[in-house]
Amino acid sequence: MDDVVVIGAGIGGLTLGLMLTEKGIPVRLYEAAERISPIGVGISILPHASQQLCDLGLREALTRAGIVAQESCFYTRFGQLVHKEPLGLYAGYDVPQVQVHRGDLQALLLEAFVARAGEGRVITGHRCVRVEDGADHAVAHFVDPEGRALPPVTGRAVIAADGIHSVVRAQLFPAEGGPIYSGVNMWRGISRWKPFLTGASYVRAGWLSLGKMVIYPIRDNIDGKGTQLINWVAEIETPEHNQQDWNRRGRLSDFIGAFEDWHFDFLDVPAMIRAADAVLEYPMVDKDPLPQWSFGRLTLLGDAAHPMYPRGSNGAGQAILDARALADALAEFADVPEALQAYERARLAATARVVETNRTTPPDVILKIVHERSGDRPFERLEDIVSPEELAAVSNNYKKVAGYDRSMLRRGA
Ligand SMILES: Cc1cc2nc3c(=O)[nH]c(=O)nc-3n(C[C@H](O)[C@H](O)[C@H](O)COP(=O)(O)OP(=O)(O)OC[C@H]3O[C@@H](n4cnc5c(N)ncnc54)[C@H](O)[C@@H]3O)c2cc1C
Repeated sequence: MDDVVVIGAGIGGLTLGLMLTEKGIPVRLYEAAERISPIGVGISILPHASQQLCDLGLREALTRAGIVAQESCFYTRFGQLVHKEPLGLYAGYDVPQVQVHRGDLQALLLEAFVARAGEGRVITGHRCVRVEDGADHAVAHFVDPEGRALPPVTGRAVIAADGIHSVVRAQLFPAEGGPIYSGVNMWRGISRWKPFLTGASYVRAGWLSLGKMVIYPIRDNIDGKGTQLINWVAEIETPEHNQQDWNRRGRLSDFIGAFEDWHFDFLDVPAMIRAADAVLEYPMVDKDPLPQWSFGRLTLLGDAAHPMYPRGSNGAGQAILDARALADALAEFADVPEALQAYERARLAATARVVETNRTTPPDVILKIVHERSGDRPFERLEDIVSPEELAAVSNNYKKVAGYDRSMLRRGA
């Protein structure tokens, strides 16, 4: 049997590699980077995705690498608590919700894939430049890091898991254009800091017009004295932005002013921001949902298929769910184009709803409601402006759309 060829050894590509290997379907991953190094900052693995990783036998590795989340908390920019709810195991799920450094997650997936599939199945230094569909196989064309053509690779299917700037998507949809800017720019960093709140809390605060923050720990006790790595993201509405590049350096002076007086009783936000080793800047972008992902033996997966705003912690999670659906379909249907159609049916509309909901009503709309109704002033009594039920409904609706409402997950993982 020809191998399945996966383009991109990011979170989606590696998870697909593991799932296909588990099903006995041979797979090779071709990655543009010369070396897989820990790039990125924090990501959250919500229960729907965590269940898939637990099913792959990665529960222990995942919880060891990251922090098992306990609670999600929403605050105003004055440090007033607006809404709080338990997460993952603490909310009665069978699986943990985990906050982890993207690089740590990628490394553990890579290690598991190499251990299970064998050496030589992740081929680095291969940048895909073009794909071709054929009657009984598909072909991917690559260049090396110097831009020299490499021998083409054939597979029974070619899966493009090559991220938000997917060259395969650009080939399949040449008129589409680049990512669409949301009007919100983001600055991200990681600070070494002492634990706050439960030591495993996911905090969102403020609102986008004046400055919003997302703050959560991603690695515990890094120095034997209890210090954590704290992942933070500052989001501010602004018409200006640079082109998206995960490694672009940002300037503290461009955004720190919005948070200068955020001295909460549990966290000195500006001091924590200043403690970061480096600041990365990138715009909040997504793309409109596509009408089609699968073309014969070619298909798209993860950010290549459905880049979304990171407002619901779902980028990695939806890539992992795609991998599950695609591996199941390739195992079920002997005919590859039929399998890729079944995968598309299972995932295209579902992920389009997440893209859309991340634009309109992601969980942080809780902060918008309070910001607007309080006139951006400290409130006396929260219940005078909003009921706990209304806020909980925002959160619960998002869980249903994204697929991690507790009633939607299988018990006993
Ligand atoms: C360097 C980097 C840093 C990131 N940092 C964060 C972060 O801090 N927080 C966050 O929430 N999300 C981050 N993301 C995005 C997040 O990983 C994805 O939204 C999510 O995990 C979906 O995964 P994916 O596999 O679809 O895409 P990605 O994880 O983006 O993986 C795509 C992979 O494809 C490779 N690739 C790209 N083009 C080609 C090509 N032409 N040929 C071969 N390989 C190619 C890339 O090098 C990458 O390894 C980052 C992505 C990258 C690539």
